[in-house]
Amino acid sequence: LPRRIHEVTADHVAGAPGQIALVEDGAAWSYRDLDRRVTEIAAVLSSLGVRAGDRMIIVSENCISLAALLLAASRLDAWAIVANPRLSARELDQIRDHSGARRMFFASKVSKEAAAHAARLGAENRHLGALQDIGVGPLNESATAEPVEADPARQVAVLIYTSGTTGTPKGVMLSHDNLLISAKTTAYFRKMDRSDKIYLVLPISHIVGISLLIMTLMVGGTVRMVSKYDPAETAKAIAEEGVTILNGVPATYQRLLEYKSVSGLRQLSPGSLRLIAVAGAPLDLDLKSRVEKEFGLPLLNGYGITECSPGISGVRFDAPCADQAVGTLLPGVEGRIRTIDGIPISQGEIGELHVRGRNVMCGYHRAPELTAKVIDSEGWFNTGDLARFDGDCLYIVGRTKEMIIRSGFNVYPAEVEAVLSSHKDVVQCAVVGRPADGNEEIVAFVQLLQGSRVTSADLMGFIRFQLTSYKRPSEIIVLDALPATSTGKILKHKLAGSLRGEAP
Ligand code: ATP
Repeated sequence: LPRRIHEVTADHVAGAPGQIALVEDGAAWSYRDLDRRVTEIAAVLSSLGVRAGDRMIIVSENCISLAALLLAASRLDAWAIVANPRLSARELDQIRDHSGARRMFFASKVSKEAAAHAARLGAENRHLGALQDIGVGPLNESATAEPVEADPARQVAVLIYTSGTTGTPKGVMLSHDNLLISAKTTAYFRKMDRSDKIYLVLPISHIVGISLLIMTLMVGGTVRMVSKYDPAETAKAIAEEGVTILNGVPATYQRLLEYKSVSGLRQLSPGSLRLIAVAGAPLDLDLKSRVEKEFGLPLLNGYGITECSPGISGVRFDAPCADQAVGTLLPGVEGRIRTIDGIPISQGEIGELHVRGRNVMCGYHRAPELTAKVIDSEGWFNTGDLARFDGDCLYIVGRTKEMIIRSGFNVYPAEVEAVLSSHKDVVQCAVVGRPADGNEEIVAFVQLLQGSRVTSADLMGFIRFQLTSYKRPSEIIVLDALPATSTGKILKHKLAGSLRGEAP
């Protein structure tokens, strides 16, 4: 393995310099271009005061400039923080303050939101080597550099603030080695090589997006940058641009199918697609089978978490698992199941999943107590997910924090959600607990197809014969839309908060 993330291109610069590494609308960079330009940009960043061990924030949608800045930060041993421009001013300021960043950069040409943040934070528009129109924020003179590791592979490469579906954003420190090992094993499961062209629609500000970028460059393939998800454009690009890999969260595929039905297309063309994959949230089986029918390919599920860079398990390209499984552990990742109190349990039982391997994060930035809560002295990381193994296959049952205990029975929201989602009019749903007289009640939130006349009472009738009484919601609330993160994850803590009268 290379030692640092920007070094993944080295072999291709030497072996296939003209091969296209990065493409966006109106631009294409070969591996040779990328290497030269990243060297130049790193020199400019250095002249702007970015040093080894500094945090550097890049506010950007997916674009070539973002990838180049990220790799240039790696050259300088600076920690990159990629921030989603759609964050609010408060959220972005929180990341800036918590990370103690030295400089902020904004790819303002690509995104209106990034340009607005740049203007608000007093950034100046500059050319940085090959990059035009980059907003450069003022130097934070008081920012201190973190110590630099003697072994570059152990140096922190990126600091990722998790999307916070549980309500508390944390800065996850991932080393070069963490990212490289996860990318390498995932690429191996997928049999990726330089003939692959990935349609990168998942944000690089999120661990899955960053990992896909690194793994594609590692194999010498081509990354097609997509700054904003538009299902119509995605369908067209797949049909016409020689895309071989599409990776999404469940919502990516859901919207693609919605587009198909409103556009009146008979079928979405798979073009050159050879692999479609999904990760990041529980996958509804009905959605899975509809997507598979559309493209004539298996939809490969993968499970990961920011703290594990993100690769924990995946369905292998050549060895599909049972529909509900999230595949088998990636090479080098160990997994074990424990009760919530940490006691070993027998094979096949549900408990908390703990994992260990080179992919496990260095820790949470400036939060050693929080790190000690999730990583034990032997290096086992507690995922906080409830899971079970059947042979080698891993099944995710839900999150510990979300498990509802009703009259002493454990209720896994994912099971109730799967039943509700199988109703033809339910677009998405989320199940949360509501404290009630020392007990917990189940409340379901649902979003219906536009124009649907289905009522809560109809849905109650629908689930009645599919779920035993203690698993049935006491209330089903229909909403126009469910609050979600930019990667389409439903913000359950907001829904639970709304039950307590908090503003959404
Ligand atoms: P926070 O940690 O603050 O809640 P987050 O939920 O967005 O933020 P991520 O690291 O992005 O954190 O998400 C990881 C979680 O996503 C896992 O712990 C798991 O619950 C869920 N997840 C990821 N992939 C899958 C999958 N294939 N099937 C089911 N759940 C998944």
